[in-house]
Amino acid sequence: MIITIDGPAGTGKSSTALAVAERLGFDFLDTGAMYRAVALEAIRRGVKLDDTRELAFVARHCRIAFDWGKHPPGVLLNGEPVGHLLRSGETTRAASYVAVVPVIRELLVTEQQRIGRERGNIVTEGRDQGTVVFPEAQFKFYLDATPAERARRRVAQLRARGEIVDYNEVLNQIVARDHRDATRAIGPLAVPPGATVIDTTTLSEGQVVDKIVATVKGNPAK
Ligand code: C5P
Repeated sequence: MIITIDGPAGTGKSSTALAVAERLGFDFLDTGAMYRAVALEAIRRGVKLDDTRELAFVARHCRIAFDWGKHPPGVLLNGEPVGHLLRSGETTRAASYVAVVPVIRELLVTEQQRIGRERGNIVTEGRDQGTVVFPEAQFKFYLDATPAERARRRVAQLRARGEIVDYNEVLNQIVARDHRDATRAIGPLAVPPGATVIDTTTLSEGQVVDKIVATVKGNPAK
């Protein structure tokens, strides 16, 4: 069974998808991590973010894999565990440039579909999982929240990590990233047909997880 969870940044997709996967005993596929890993490789090689040919070259010549024995699954770039390096501001920004390159999307989409076939039961999370990658998924969800709330969550997360951040700057970055995600030609962020939309603005992560699990188990009212 494939369960897709899409939505913009800051809606708690990753942690929600991971928790749902744990509750159901499914594998968790973090597709954003794949774009981030390509971005990390591009940064390491000093590629300019607007050089789409170079970005595509980098994507073709690196190996991204998951270590399914770890919870959450470890992200491997050319065999090196890089999960802890993927969430920096620099990688986050670079990933949204990587994600607009059609050749890279094709490569990663094909890889995600292969993982889906190979792993069987997955909860997958991203921007295009219910629309492009797994349009036939049994359950599709779309998480949303107001930009102000998403910025608030992001600021809290970064401050908890000891980073000094400005709320307005984070809000502007979120709005800019939403725009890039929603307007790109291939795999733009969109509500998949037939998806259950959950506005998480006033919900806790636990409540969102409960809603999704209840829907999958055929008891959406709970
Ligand atoms: O979800 P996350 O913030 O880790 O995604 C990192 C970047 O990868 C985002 O800017 C988004 O544009 C891109 N992405 C994508 N398609 C996906 C997952 C992520 O374009 N399925």
